[in-house]
Amino acid sequence: MNDTLTSYLGGQWVAGDGGGNAVADAVTGDHLHLVSSGGLDLPGAVTFARDVGGPALRSLTFPERAALVKAAAAALSERKQELYDLSAKAGATLSDAKVDVDGGFGTAMVYAGLGKRGLPDGTVVVEDDPIQLGKEGLFFGQHILTSRQGLALQINAFNFPVWGMLEKLAPALLAGVPSIVKPATPTAYIAQHAVRIMVEAEVLPEGALQIVCGSIPGLFDLLDGQDSVGFTGSAETAAKLRSDPAVTQRSVRFNAEADSLNSSILGPDAGPGTPEFDLFVDALITEMTVKAGQKCTAIRRAFVPTEHLEEVADAVSTKLSEVVVGAPGAEGVTMGALVGLDQRDDVRAKVAELAAGTTTVFGDPQTVEVVGADAERGAFISPVLLRSDDPAVAAVHAVEAFGPVSTLMPYESAAQVVELVARGQGSLAASVVSYDDDFTRHVVQNIASHHGRVLALDRDSAPESTGHGTPMPQLVHGGPGRAGGGQEEAGLHAVFDHLQRTAVQGSKARLLSVTGSGQAR
Ligand code: NAP
Repeated sequence: MNDTLTSYLGGQWVAGDGGGNAVADAVTGDHLHLVSSGGLDLPGAVTFARDVGGPALRSLTFPERAALVKAAAAALSERKQELYDLSAKAGATLSDAKVDVDGGFGTAMVYAGLGKRGLPDGTVVVEDDPIQLGKEGLFFGQHILTSRQGLALQINAFNFPVWGMLEKLAPALLAGVPSIVKPATPTAYIAQHAVRIMVEAEVLPEGALQIVCGSIPGLFDLLDGQDSVGFTGSAETAAKLRSDPAVTQRSVRFNAEADSLNSSILGPDAGPGTPEFDLFVDALITEMTVKAGQKCTAIRRAFVPTEHLEEVADAVSTKLSEVVVGAPGAEGVTMGALVGLDQRDDVRAKVAELAAGTTTVFGDPQTVEVVGADAERGAFISPVLLRSDDPAVAAVHAVEAFGPVSTLMPYESAAQVVELVARGQGSLAASVVSYDDDFTRHVVQNIASHHGRVLALDRDSAPESTGHGTPMPQLVHGGPGRAGGGQEEAGLHAVFDHLQRTAVQGSKARLLSVTGSGQAR
């Protein structure tokens, strides 16, 4: 029997040749299926996207495309339970699954709204008023944005199979660009089912969305300057793909989101008994345990004023001792499994690397009590809180254990914590948890250059705060340096990234005729 996960290419569900990688249930260890793209017609998929999907999308106005995005999100919302059920097989509790699934269609809904309200009723964005270039007023210039005539190749990480796809798909659809999605093998079945739901709802034009489950040999060779690649995953894979001739020689646009050693900083004012102390502790627990810490924005480095370090370590340990690890849905379980046994091996190896410069405050990566499942067959791991009394230890600023692992570190001054945060060499997100205006202003202004997003958290904003780890589609998601140097989300800028900016020159009347008056945004 061929139990290979099917791909959706050229308007058909097709299975690879077998072989490939076996994927197991993260909770039970049972075999689920094989993932292989062997024998699939990838060149045909590229042609189908370019010749069928692209023209169909480009024939629609921005508001019509926004309506498609909304319809796709609504279709997913209607069948979200199916995606929750599949997510449980990947170790996700219901609340973890909601972060991915509801977060995914919610993000698409936000993009649909941004597109409807913020883009013109046409197919061309006019960026500015005509700029006079000649003394006599005969010659002008103006910038327009139009759809690139290629495709968007998405290469996604395993941790957000639905959200990671939709945050890339929505801007591409708005821009009139078809997508080919290549999900990560361990959770490809969840992304594939989300695609199935959208295909069955018949909300998107043929060719606007295809998915290839398995590897994509030779696909980069087919890409050119009208195409883009949106990558999320490890820095190592990002580096390999970034050096492909498609990127280096043919100028395929390449956006990467990679590893990130995100920080949270407790202000000196926020001692025990203050609301900010509790907010800091709660955020750290959330970031360590949601999706078992497999979140690109999770807090890996927690900086605490030296005088509060013991109290923070005690408060976090107490709360971690209340975490119940086990099968999603089993009685009382608050943290699920990692995505698979390979990932658990990887997290254990990374904790071993961190051990050289740290002591363990809570947890043992080799042992965990598990509810409703077998601790060895499933990819379970205990939350692990480390402490490095010497914050200069290199590993804590360089090694990302992609699981429920975080390190506490002391600092003495605002200037020192700014310098320590920068040792992460570029991150997605940081939090400054303080009620002291001067401290917060100094730290935010001085760490901003190393981050895509900074949260200033205090008692006033906490009731409505979306939290440290949640990217918002209206805002930048992405970070400099180690974090990949890209921006996966940034409101309408993520749409504009798929459009070509062109300066058009001529008489004012000619420009108005070319650009169409009234389309300026
Ligand atoms: P990965 O191994 O870099 O894989 C990411 C994606 O790239 C997957 O879809 C993978 O497909 C694909 N890929 C790998 N080699 C490729 C190649 N030569 N050509 C085209 N595609 C290729 O990352 P991962 O397995 O998802 O996670 C590994 C590590 O990445 C984690 O431990 C963590 O450190 C980091 N990570 C970071 C983020 C983030 O958002 N910052 C998210 C997840 C993971 P296959 O799965 O089929 O190999």
